[in-house]
Amino acid sequence: MSRIDPIEQGLKQGWHHIRGSQLQQDTVLEADVVIIGSGAGGGTAAEILSAAGLTVIMVEAGPLKSSRDFDMEERHAYPNLYQQAGALQTKDKAISIFQGRAVGGSTTINWTTSIRTPVQTLEYWRAEKSVQGISETSLQPWFEQMEQRLSIRPWTLAPNANNRVLAQGCETLGWDVTPIRRNVTSCWNTGYCGMGCPVDAKQSMLITTIPAMLSRGGTLLSQVKAVQIEHHRRTVYGIRAEALSDGLTPTGINVVLKARHYILAGGAIHTPALMLRSWLPDPYGILGRRTFLHPSVLSGALFDDNINAHSGAPQSIYSDQFLWRDGVSGELGYKLEVPPVHPVLLASKTVGYGRSHAALMQQMNHLQVTIALMRDGFSADAPGGSVILQPNGRIVLDYPLTEAFWQAARHALLRMAELQFAAGARQVLPIAEGGGYYASWREAKQEISQLGLAPLKTVVASAHVMGGCPMGEDRQQAMVSSHGRSHYLDNLSVFDGSVFPTSLGANPQLSIYGLCARNATLLADSLTKLTG
Ligand SMILES: Cc1cc2nc3c(=O)[nH]c(=O)nc-3n(C[C@H](O)[C@H](O)[C@H](O)COP(=O)(O)OP(=O)(O)OC[C@H]3O[C@@H](n4cnc5c(N)ncnc54)[C@H](O)[C@@H]3O)c2cc1C
Repeated sequence: MSRIDPIEQGLKQGWHHIRGSQLQQDTVLEADVVIIGSGAGGGTAAEILSAAGLTVIMVEAGPLKSSRDFDMEERHAYPNLYQQAGALQTKDKAISIFQGRAVGGSTTINWTTSIRTPVQTLEYWRAEKSVQGISETSLQPWFEQMEQRLSIRPWTLAPNANNRVLAQGCETLGWDVTPIRRNVTSCWNTGYCGMGCPVDAKQSMLITTIPAMLSRGGTLLSQVKAVQIEHHRRTVYGIRAEALSDGLTPTGINVVLKARHYILAGGAIHTPALMLRSWLPDPYGILGRRTFLHPSVLSGALFDDNINAHSGAPQSIYSDQFLWRDGVSGELGYKLEVPPVHPVLLASKTVGYGRSHAALMQQMNHLQVTIALMRDGFSADAPGGSVILQPNGRIVLDYPLTEAFWQAARHALLRMAELQFAAGARQVLPIAEGGGYYASWREAKQEISQLGLAPLKTVVASAHVMGGCPMGEDRQQAMVSSHGRSHYLDNLSVFDGSVFPTSLGANPQLSIYGLCARNATLLADSLTKLTG
């Protein structure tokens, strides 16, 4: 069936798109607002500011791809759409991190789970992190606006077998189980969301807010990377960027961006890194610290029936049974979800080698995987990590896994095994070196209780990067105000996941959409008033 590719169509209609690799000479561009990054925060801001009549330039280091390029093949998706081709890791290599690097940012490749910020988290920010004016009630209209804009609705098709195991296990044990809302329209239920939606069903920034901004005359620069924020006293007076080749290496061509206001939306590793690289004022040494990941441990289970966890909506069920298990700042709680299981993803995120690895891969279609996402940042023993700029300019995320994490990991591996057996698993295998295939909950309980959990032995992964440039009114804790405006530079805002003062305890995209919609609307009001 021939389909209209909205990106191809927009480009034909004359959208202003400049690809870094095609720039032949140094260039200066000017607009009311320059936005660095095109993910959840950048896309939301771009649409709202352009709708207010402001001219917008959006700068994205990754390439502009469209559904024509999304061929459902991991070998193409990871190098084209992910930071470091999907191989990004923390300094000690103990945590694998997935983050987007393409127009649309991580929203182009995410799994469409859409959950509002938990009330407990918002209350903690108000009480402990000097965040003002952000509550369940004050955010409600912004969540409603973005849910409508991005077609966020309950998923009415049956969950795939991978999610069904989570639901069945929880139901058998009497645990919390909640259906997930997703940002899709006319979804084909393929299960390949992580490789870019081949049928434009996912309402990512790539096909919603960014086209809206471009249709209003905005400009998109792809394959252009912001490297330096030029500032003096309380004012930013330009951002220096470099054009990137099709292989995403610098071409030597420079781009200077000038605006009345600048928005950083490069995500929770790159926004703090750009600010650190530019020596922005940071008298309390906050920048790049307290970076959160929802570090997640994984439990595999083999079933007699086919699970085919590569097929069907990747996430449609979650359980918060253990999320707040000991209060907000008590023992580390975790959310239970499932990931999609595709061959390269599985091969690189599991344990064993040689025959044992091959044996597991051969059983891939019978494998169910449950994940426990740790709610980091709410107590002193879960302080998160730090973004560090090395002398050679490389960015590293140092995230030491604490004793509190390992205790929670063991708790989670036990509970996940329990639920997988309750759902009828034949065997359960914690994804950790030293663990075996256990044939009963009794055996699993005994063995996992004594399993040596440690960095590099236990697989830990994250697709949720948050923090590093926190919001709040107390400058000893926060870099930006509760509206995302810099405490130190009058014409600079940060609108992305880096402003969260802790992790969320929920998948981040909707929290970023809601908060950025509110902050971008307030910014648009103030900029248009100044003009008027
Ligand atoms: C595989 C995967 C699955 C996920 N699934 C879900 C899910 O189901 N539900 C959910 O809620 N969340 C999910 N997430 C997380 C969610 O997508 C992110 O939390 C969210 O998109 C972050 O938004 P952001 O604006 O902070 O940054 P991003 O969306 O990551 O966008 C940042 C963009 O800025 C660009 N950039 C960075 N630095 C520069 C620079 N110097 N110059 C120019 N451009 C720059 C990057 O290339 C990137 O494209 C998932 C993430 C991944 C990777």
